[in-house]
Amino acid sequence: MKSWIKKINIIYRGILFIEKIEHGIMMTHIFNSVIQAVTPFINLFMLSYIIDAITNKKPLYILLLYVFVMVGLNAIIRVVSSLMETLIKKKDMQFNLRYDMAVANKMMSMHYETLDTAETHNLRMRISEASNIFGSRIQKILMLFPGMAQAVFTVIFSTALTINLFFNMPEKNMPGIWNIINTPVFTIALLILIVLTILVNMNLTAKSTKKMMNQYDLYIPVNKVGDFYSTQYLDSYHAGKDIRLYNQKNIIIDELEQNNRNCFKIDNETAKIEYKYANINSFISTFINILVYIFVGLKAWVGALSVGNIVKYVGSFNEFISGFTRLMNSSSALLSNNQYIEQTLEFMSIDDAIFKGILPVTPNTNENAEKYEIKFENVSFKYPDSDRYILKNINITLEYGHSLAIVGENGSGKTTFVKLLCGLYKPTEGKITLNGKDIYDYKYDEYLKLFSVVFQDFKLLSFQLGNNIAVGEQYDSSKIREAIGKAGFEKRFESLEDGADTYLYNDFDLNGVEISGGEAQKIAIARALYKDAEIIVLDEPTASLDPIAENEIYSNFNEIMHGKTTICISHRLSSCKFCEKICVFDNGEIVQYDSHENLVKNTGEKYYELWNAQAQYYKNIA
Ligand code: ADP
Repeated sequence: MKSWIKKINIIYRGILFIEKIEHGIMMTHIFNSVIQAVTPFINLFMLSYIIDAITNKKPLYILLLYVFVMVGLNAIIRVVSSLMETLIKKKDMQFNLRYDMAVANKMMSMHYETLDTAETHNLRMRISEASNIFGSRIQKILMLFPGMAQAVFTVIFSTALTINLFFNMPEKNMPGIWNIINTPVFTIALLILIVLTILVNMNLTAKSTKKMMNQYDLYIPVNKVGDFYSTQYLDSYHAGKDIRLYNQKNIIIDELEQNNRNCFKIDNETAKIEYKYANINSFISTFINILVYIFVGLKAWVGALSVGNIVKYVGSFNEFISGFTRLMNSSSALLSNNQYIEQTLEFMSIDDAIFKGILPVTPNTNENAEKYEIKFENVSFKYPDSDRYILKNINITLEYGHSLAIVGENGSGKTTFVKLLCGLYKPTEGKITLNGKDIYDYKYDEYLKLFSVVFQDFKLLSFQLGNNIAVGEQYDSSKIREAIGKAGFEKRFESLEDGADTYLYNDFDLNGVEISGGEAQKIAIARALYKDAEIIVLDEPTASLDPIAENEIYSNFNEIMHGKTTICISHRLSSCKFCEKICVFDNGEIVQYDSHENLVKNTGEKYYELWNAQAQYYKNIA
């Protein structure tokens, strides 16, 4: 019982969620279901009246009146139905668009750390895989619930119409054994038989739906592989190089063929299940129909029913059987869909922010203090779902208006440090403060405005260059030119026919330009400069740049950064020595913090070791 309440509660929550996205959608569907359910009964009812009017030789005007009412009602229903259909189409379309928006919104607004957990990742994967293969699962409520509501109304209407059949007694007793038809025992026995058959049918439907859902789950990994190779990988022209140079064609074809074989196997099994249960189902339905025909036939034969009533009862009972079968099928499909609805609801209800701060971010007014003073106090950090400390007991104050380089070997925790600084992850231990208060006490959007960051794996959008740099529809052209100039993209910019209106890549515009990795990096730097934030962070900013461009950026560094707090991460020490302070990371710890001139004197320390290793490398090349 408890589990049933839970199951129904999930569907209820799913319906509330759908209603929240598109108000009135469920009521529209339900209203339409009532109309669809009631239509066959109006016709059956009217038809029985017409037949009885004919057989009882009623006056012509009564017959015509019945016909007129029946045709009139049908015309009204048709008009209302087509209006409802249009309204439902519109509402469903709006729901789909708004639902996609809501999911996208969730993805972009949830805290980055939550996004990075295995739990969120799995949830998201399962939802998107399920929706890729079967159409979004939450939409299944919209697909199944109206059908279920219609079936419920059909069952109610048909029961109301047929109930009389069992109590309709003939005026006179029938001879001999046939009188048994008029006894309550006969009626009850027949009802029990019908109920038993229906129960068997329900059980079979539940079993078949469960088996079909298991089959659908088997499709998920198969479709994932197929989708990856036949669309994502082959569509990416970057992959085209590796496919040719490493002759990946054979291994991909083998993988796809194996995948197709798996898919056929599942298809076969699915078809077998469908075939088996569809046959049993139609056998049972036919059996119930025969019972009803015999019962109605006998009743008519013993004189308990008029011809019109025979039509009405047989028709209504058929409606009852079909309504009940649909009710079973749709409700069991709806219940099996529950785990996906639960996952969607769980995903959509993830708390958006671990930053619940309310303080506005304002500069320090105390003359003796830095304008914005950020401090790491005993910060240690482990990534979600990991036991390994990536940062250990970090203590550092970022000096406002000065430049700081963070150096260290790959994997020493430099980028992680920046992610914590930007509030993308929360320290596992210790705290980061801004002007003396924990950064988590501030409003997150205001805190983020302090930073312009170019991560190594930055992403540009396939939009116009100007929109990319300004990250918005509107932009200040002169500011764009200034940022482009500082980032060293001027020469290439001059060659672009459409200037800042040029589309990057050709995803959305066939005339879009392809840009090299180095050019993309310059655009990303221009984007960071355009934002004009208080603190600029550049994570390996020149990794994709040629030596000339790299030199250009660094020789103008002080002018480019223009007295801003700058944090520059690099494993190339030569590009960091111009920073006022250098912080050396080793295995998640800050092992040295000083100027280049001082650090390089400390023989036997990490910086000296790294510096010499790299200087040696350049010497050998020379
Ligand atoms: P660096 O910038 O110094 O090269 P990172 O800060 O990027 O180093 O990475 C430090 C360590 O943290 C690496 O061992 C890396 O594998 C691990 N790491 C980075 N990102 C994640 C993540 N999202 N989840 C788990 N571990 C991560």
